Amino acid sequence: MRAQPQASHFINGAYVEDTAGAEIDVIFPATGEVIAKLHSATPAIIEQAITSSLAAQADWEAMTGTERGRILRRAADIIRERNHDLSVLETLDTGKPYQETSVADATSGADALEYFGGLAASLTGEHIQMPDGDFVYTRREALGVCVGIGAWNYPTQIACWKAAPALACGNTSIFKPSETTPLSALKVAEIMIEAGAPAGIFNVIQGYGDVGAALVTDPRVAKVSLTGSVPTGRKVYAAAAAGMKHVTMELGGKSPMIIFDDADVENAVSGAILGNFYSSGQVCSNGTRVFVQKGIKEAFLKRLAERLENAVIGDPLDPETSFGPMVSEGQLNIVMNYIEKGKEEGARLAFGGARIDGEGFYLQPTVFADVTDDMTIAREEIFGPVMSVLDFDDEDEVLARANDTEFGLAAGVFTNDLTRAHRVVAGFEAGTCYINTYNDAPVEAPFGGSKASGVGRENSKAAIEHYSELKTVYVRLSDLEAPF
Ligand code: NDP
Repeated sequence: MRAQPQASHFINGAYVEDTAGAEIDVIFPATGEVIAKLHSATPAIIEQAITSSLAAQADWEAMTGTERGRILRRAADIIRERNHDLSVLETLDTGKPYQETSVADATSGADALEYFGGLAASLTGEHIQMPDGDFVYTRREALGVCVGIGAWNYPTQIACWKAAPALACGNTSIFKPSETTPLSALKVAEIMIEAGAPAGIFNVIQGYGDVGAALVTDPRVAKVSLTGSVPTGRKVYAAAAAGMKHVTMELGGKSPMIIFDDADVENAVSGAILGNFYSSGQVCSNGTRVFVQKGIKEAFLKRLAERLENAVIGDPLDPETSFGPMVSEGQLNIVMNYIEKGKEEGARLAFGGARIDGEGFYLQPTVFADVTDDMTIAREEIFGPVMSVLDFDDEDEVLARANDTEFGLAAGVFTNDLTRAHRVVAGFEAGTCYINTYNDAPVEAPFGGSKASGVGRENSKAAIEHYSELKTVYVRLSDLEAPF
């Protein structure tokens, strides 16, 4: 098997196996080939991970921020040096084209380690002056053991987006990848050790939802950060609430993208492609409800179809390939069911719509036109390469329709009217908004959703608030009076 790791889990600086755990077959989505066999974590493995994480935390927090930051930045450098190999692994694990993984996965993980490594030395509390020389100061303290649970679409990035701010703040981190894509987080754990990290500060254990649930409910865990669907988010948030734990929830979406008549058609088409077909549509923030003003509709659909013909669908390991398979047969079937529903409910299939014959889980990039707000494909997250194009007449109407959803992850607008762009963005009920661009996610900027799409923010200085807490210390220099 061409991607078999030494063992399933990485705990306390070393690979660990327990073959009593349920088997996990790791499949290359382009061929269906089994590339590795792992085991889900048993209670004994979960216990080892938590014990080692707890044991490592105090010493890690006691190091200076500069020392912690240096280790994270070294890990970032090693990831960049090995970008090719890590990207090939990510492509084998997820099926995403190497053309994408080589610029968006290990590299964005490295960005997070470098960014939070750089911030680590500057994390401080503050001093607050009171009358008579008294004062208050705050200490910014780590939370303790932080658990990260990942989805399968960006395994390296999600592992690093959760571990980097946690570690920068002096926490230790346990990451459970999706069992669909378990391989690359193990490499990140190996690299941390090479970079000089003390054993136990970043442990990776594999498993199905039950392993995630065991971590979330363990009283020794202080914080849970989940990237996943809204239904899983509700369960994990509720379980974390029972233990009054800190949470970050990065959940699903059904984000709107509004294209006004005055937009540059070529840019708008680029935005719609980036926001619907990158990673074969398996991106949480995708703008899958594309509202197009009636005056530009025909030009938009024509140019979109022309550009979709240029998608290079094939072996994701070939650097020329720009569109790969779905992550799994199961996900492919979910998406095919949505395509059938779209047809049944009267949407017009404008492009694609079929499974591609042959091995692997390939599906054509798909566009539905004449979609209406009530159709299932306009209401539910599909998590595949299916774009819904809806018509609109004016700004007030489209904004109300764009916001008429339980989700609030992202939203975008394409227009050349500067005033309107900012007005529309101010009206969006979404955490991450775009003007004349779509799906950028640099580590320097906060990322996250509102409404049912999430709680808290990842990336940027905002993440620090979610991985540390302030202790307030009152200091009295003057005499202390009491009523008796
Ligand atoms: P799921 O919600 O199915 O799973 C997410 C993770 O949670 C998996 O590791 C899963 O394990 C685990 N899990 C499942 N049940 C529980 C439980 N009861 N307690 C603890 N952990 C549990 O999501 P997918 O993996 O299918 O990913 C797709 C979803 O992720 C989409 O909705 C997408 O929008 C969202 N997403 C959000 C992002 C964001 O930043 N906002 C980014 C990327 C994706 P297992 O896989 O074994 O079930």
